[in-house]
Amino acid sequence: MICRLCGGHAFAAVCDLGPMPLVNNLLHHPADACQRWPLVVCRCTGCGLVQLTESVPPPLMFDDYCYFSSQSATMVEHARGLVAAAVAPGDAVVEIASNDGYLLRSAIERGARVLGVDPARNVAAEAERRGVPTLCAYFDAATAASIRRDFGAADVLFACNVLAHVPDPHAIAAGIKTLLAPEGRAHVEVPSLERMIETVAFDTIYHEHQCYFALAPLRRLFAHHDLRIVAVRAVPVHGGSLHVEVAHDGDESAAEAWCRREAAAGLEDDPFYRSFATRIDDLRDVVRGAVADAGSVGAYGAAAKGVVLLNAFDLRGDAVAWVADVSPHKQGRFIPGTGQPVVAPDHLRTASPAACLLLAWNLESEVRRQEAAYLAAGGSLLIPRPDRLRTPVAG
Ligand SMILES: [Zn+2]
Repeated sequence: MICRLCGGHAFAAVCDLGPMPLVNNLLHHPADACQRWPLVVCRCTGCGLVQLTESVPPPLMFDDYCYFSSQSATMVEHARGLVAAAVAPGDAVVEIASNDGYLLRSAIERGARVLGVDPARNVAAEAERRGVPTLCAYFDAATAASIRRDFGAADVLFACNVLAHVPDPHAIAAGIKTLLAPEGRAHVEVPSLERMIETVAFDTIYHEHQCYFALAPLRRLFAHHDLRIVAVRAVPVHGGSLHVEVAHDGDESAAEAWCRREAAAGLEDDPFYRSFATRIDDLRDVVRGAVADAGSVGAYGAAAKGVVLLNAFDLRGDAVAWVADVSPHKQGRFIPGTGQPVVAPDHLRTASPAACLLLAWNLESEVRRQEAAYLAAGGSLLIPRPDRLRTPVAG
């Protein structure tokens, strides 16, 4: 394999989650065939980029996508905050991977002129239906050039959760360079590698996430395209993400300080990554033990990380009977690999299992509000995080 960032050929192993189905392709029938692909993470010893060893062809994952961002109140609220801080009335705003228009709706309300870009036909159509003009395409330098010609340069660019999703992050960075207005700012958000390793958030590893970024490799990527990271902060979405602001020119001292802190925390050295696989195994034992102790268990959140956790921990229908999800696009379908039916959340109230495994652990406060009736009736949530479950007592 070749490093997606530096073209190097030498890698160190990080973890292997085994053959895994494509997590966002829910099945129509429990017996439907489901192809599995290796899910192995490694780290380039040349540039430090953590990445998957293999790429699944993007059309298999993205052409018909079942993640609709607007269905998460947390994500809609987060988008509203980003727009309020970055967008002024009259700005030309482009969002890369605009999904169903959940962010650009807010930008329109602020008086901006907007264009979304998303390769998934079904979510792009949903965005158009909601009044958000959307180009159905993969974003790269050629797409950026055609947008610049037809729509104009972007004063504000958003690229949240897309840089880590593509086989070639250089294509996105080159497109940003092409499309960004001279004084424009690109707001780029990626899940934080540092948080993922620290919190054992292995269930954020799936085929769509081809790269796992610390700031130093991200800075190297943008520098290659003559772009600067002029601001950086940690944001809580998706279990912890990095939000960076990118410009054609500007002061990078904040990014430099952030990279020094990462280096001091060990992110550039092997030992930081070495215990990750062992800690995943430990978490599997704890979660499987808690599920067995609870007796009757349902689960909540048929999103990507839930499918990873059920498959990686081999939790099938005899252990976890069903998975509740608010998305009507998912209800009536089945979890690839483990086969549970996806049901509406009111199933939690009617079936009233002793415990509910919260696969969408990043949305805990939202779920606690929505499912207050189940919890008040004596139900409990099992949070599959290392610090949230007790180690089962032996014997
Ligand atoms: Zn590399």
